[in-house]
Amino acid sequence: MPNCENCGRQWKWKTIVLNTLKFTNKVNCPYCGKAQYIVPKSRKQNALFSFLPAFLIIVVTLIFDLEVLGTFLLVPALIFIFLGIYPFLTKLSNEDEASIGER
Ligand SMILES: [Zn+2]
Repeated sequence: MPNCENCGRQWKWKTIVLNTLKFTNKVNCPYCGKAQYIVPKSRKQNALFSFLPAFLIIVVTLIFDLEVLGTFLLVPALIFIFLGIYPFLTKLSNEDEASIGER
């Protein structure tokens, strides 16, 4: 689980997931109040996480020959698993590293 880069306190799983669901990577630390950015531990992981859910859906659909209904049930399950793992693969930063890289 990631630690605040400013005060060093460990964030709760819930804090990361709730803010991921809001589609924001900028979150104020619940302990010291400083803005932190949720960033992947590495660029490789970032790319992996962009493709993995879509890849899994395609593979599972092919293997199990799912009906459309099955796919609709599968997608929320995969999103749930993804969100469960996601906070363990992130770190917190004082800077928005993603936007620095794009500059
Ligand atoms: Zn903090």
